[in-house]
Amino acid sequence: MPYLHDTLAQLQQSSPAQTEFYQATEEVLDSLRPLLDLNPRYHEHSIVERIVEPERQIMFRVSWVDDHGKVQVNKGYRIQFNSALGPYKGGLRFHPSVNASIIKFLGFEQVFKNALTGLPIGGGKGGSNFDPKGKSDGEIMRFCQAFMTELYRHIGPTVDVPAGDIGVGGREIGYLFGQYKRMTGRYEGVLTGKGLDWGGSLGRKEATGYGAVYFAQNMLKARGEEIAGKTCLVSGAGNVAIYTIEKLYDLGAVPITCSDSQGTIHDLQGINLKTLKLLKEVRRGSLREYVEHHPQATYVDAQNYPEGGHAVWHFEAQLAFPCATQNELTEVDAVALLQNGVFCISEGSNMASTAGAVERVLEARIAYGPGKAANAGGVATSQLEMAQNSSMQQWSLEKVDVKLQSIMADIHQRCAHTAEEFGQPHNLVVGANIAGFRKVADAMIEQGVY
Ligand code: GLU
Repeated sequence: MPYLHDTLAQLQQSSPAQTEFYQATEEVLDSLRPLLDLNPRYHEHSIVERIVEPERQIMFRVSWVDDHGKVQVNKGYRIQFNSALGPYKGGLRFHPSVNASIIKFLGFEQVFKNALTGLPIGGGKGGSNFDPKGKSDGEIMRFCQAFMTELYRHIGPTVDVPAGDIGVGGREIGYLFGQYKRMTGRYEGVLTGKGLDWGGSLGRKEATGYGAVYFAQNMLKARGEEIAGKTCLVSGAGNVAIYTIEKLYDLGAVPITCSDSQGTIHDLQGINLKTLKLLKEVRRGSLREYVEHHPQATYVDAQNYPEGGHAVWHFEAQLAFPCATQNELTEVDAVALLQNGVFCISEGSNMASTAGAVERVLEARIAYGPGKAANAGGVATSQLEMAQNSSMQQWSLEKVDVKLQSIMADIHQRCAHTAEEFGQPHNLVVGANIAGFRKVADAMIEQGVY
């Protein structure tokens, strides 16, 4: 379709050197072909050209003082990508790899993910190339305060509501919230993922991981399978991985791996959740120490990973949950997964798989839940936090969890029905992209050109 090809070519020219953003847009636009063929009105309204362009991008300097009294400087970002369905909503990522391309691809994915939840939220994303690793509590606080000193003027409970992502958890949200309150004098639901005593929602911390497992449950059910008794590969050791592992145990499965940037743990007895939480949530240290507590487990150093791949995907199992970061599952990994018996992948991280990996997995027709569908439970529960804040209520954990389960079932159904409608019943990538796009595009048309 020359229209799509031209849009992508123009995008690459006007936004140079944004590889991850091209990858995300190419995948979505490619899925839209059958929809655009049938509906010329999207072309007439230039929806594709409009939807790939963020409504607003904010870049700012973040200066802060480290523990030695030295002034440090980082880059800060907030992309307000699309507000057709509601206020901008999406996390903040603090990681040294963060740049304009990463924030832009994350913002783009967020637009479709948020649409799929069926909730009234637009898409946004932000973050910084700040590296929280090895920083003291005081340094984290001063950085968060400096970051919010600029960001506060751009956000608000009905404008843009940031949350966490990699490197931003409860501690950081606390420091960011405190600074917002001091800058504006307002106590309001401007961030999600807050502490449970001051506006947070029960179940928010667990929601992305639990949601990814509920999504897998729905995919398996559609194939007459269930989670109980399955051996699972999980990557990552952050919030998403930890609560994926917790829910897998709840449902009777055995997660045998987890990983961090330096290496992978393989424990055939099942990853010990207590040790994992101690190492990562309390000590915020390396996974390397896990084997000291559990000598039967093995540790593979990242330096010894298979060429072009990641050790975590090269063990025998039935289910896989990528919960680390983008492009963590390559074509080499996908081939190994398929050979080793994996028949269901549910992505807890955003754009977990490279284009080559997605192709292999779709060819094999195994159950595959792309991140924008499978990990939407996190942002969906953030919206539940917003609803609680604006009604000045706090719901029970049970109420939140029941809603999360039904949201994940709805997302699965939406993706599966749309995939079927377009003649590719096994392909939830096409289902998710078309269902998300259609909702946002129709709202944009109804709201007029802007
Ligand atoms: N960072 C999460 C995501 O990728 C959560 C965003 C939110 O809760 O707003 O969806």
